[in-house]
Amino acid sequence: MRIDLHTHSVISDGTDTPAELVANAAAAGLAVVALTDHDTFDGLPEATAAGERIGIEVVPGLELSCSREHQSVHLLAYGADPEDPALAEEMVLVRNGRTGRLRPVLDKLAELGVPVSEDEVLAFVGSSPSVGRPHIADALVAAGHVLDRREAFDRFLADGGPAHVARYAIDIGRGVDLVHGAGGVAVIAHPWGRGREQLLPSSILTELVAEHGLDGIEVDHQDHDAAARAGLRQLADRLGVLATGSSDYHGTGKVDHDLGVNTTDPETYARLRSLMDQRALTEQRAPATGRTGG
Ligand code: AMP
Ligand code: ZN
Ligand code: FE
Ligand code: FE
Repeated sequence: MRIDLHTHSVISDGTDTPAELVANAAAAGLAVVALTDHDTFDGLPEATAAGERIGIEVVPGLELSCSREHQSVHLLAYGADPEDPALAEEMVLVRNGRTGRLRPVLDKLAELGVPVSEDEVLAFVGSSPSVGRPHIADALVAAGHVLDRREAFDRFLADGGPAHVARYAIDIGRGVDLVHGAGGVAVIAHPWGRGREQLLPSSILTELVAEHGLDGIEVDHQDHDAAARAGLRQLADRLGVLATGSSDYHGTGKVDHDLGVNTTDPETYARLRSLMDQRALTEQRAPATGRTGG
């Protein structure tokens, strides 16, 4: 049984519609796939319906844009309630922040001699409720300034790059709290990828588990080398939290991230599932018990 818990559709910055993604997951031999678009639940109804039709289990997920010390950190959430007001409110701020920095990024790109217009970027946004760097990268490719998204990030858009502009994000500890408040399970995404080892060392991950109840660590991810995977697996075992593995599939938007390239073992998934079920039950009971206190 192959399980992939981190994928993106056109509702964020992937290239498959949610239904195509689920069909591709089944074709890739996956039994379980989680849709984890950035900062939006909008793709889940379509993905869930496709899963029921095709006969593959779809886990309702989310990848929340968080930060630590002004640097970007991603948090995966499973089974969070899309209607939870606190989480929904924060996601509006994140999405507005992402779209709002489009103009300053385009100004920087023009200064750097690789101009693209707002319309050229918007042509790649499709059904996504916000405009992200990958969409800007697509416009740079289309304009012939770079060959692919990777070159666009490496030369211009990466954190700290010459056209990078910071945007609103949620502190990682608060992100975990928000996910829990929405009845979800919180797993930190690719914590040691792209030089984040210094930003999220073992001590900080330990603190997130101890103080916020972080539920898991994404261990097997293409941004992690063998040493990072081994270190994170050991840490997850020591802390008693879930150690997941996933593709972070973006369709044709990200090379070397094919569906199922990393997977989560069935025992770990069973633990995750039971946490999701427990929290969903607690959520349902909350209004009844919570009301007595006013
Ligand atoms: P944004 O939310 O607009 O800041 O864009 C973040 C997204 O850009 C991430 O989710 C990744 O998919 C992608 N991304 C960020 N940094 C890089 C990088 N160095 N190379 C390729 N893609 C990246
Ligand atoms: Zn993405
Ligand atoms: Fe991510
Ligand atoms: Fe992702």
